[in-house]
Amino acid sequence: MPKRDNICRACEGAGILSDDEGWQYQCSVCHGDGLHSSKETEARVMNVDENNRLLD
Ligand SMILES: [Zn+2]
Repeated sequence: MPKRDNICRACEGAGILSDDEGWQYQCSVCHGDGLHSSKETEARVMNVDENNRLLD
C-alpha cells in the first residue's frame, strides 16, 4: 500500500461516508479523494530555521 501522510480523518481515506441507514455519500471534508489538503504540512516545512545552521 502506498504511504499517505494526509489521509482524511473524517472518512479515513475512503472518500465516502455512510450514515446509520447505510446510505453512502461523498465526504465533504476531502471532497471524495480521501486526502486532506497538504497546505498545513507545507507550512510546517517552511518554518524550519535553517538560517542558524547556515551560520554555524
Ligand atoms: Zn474525507
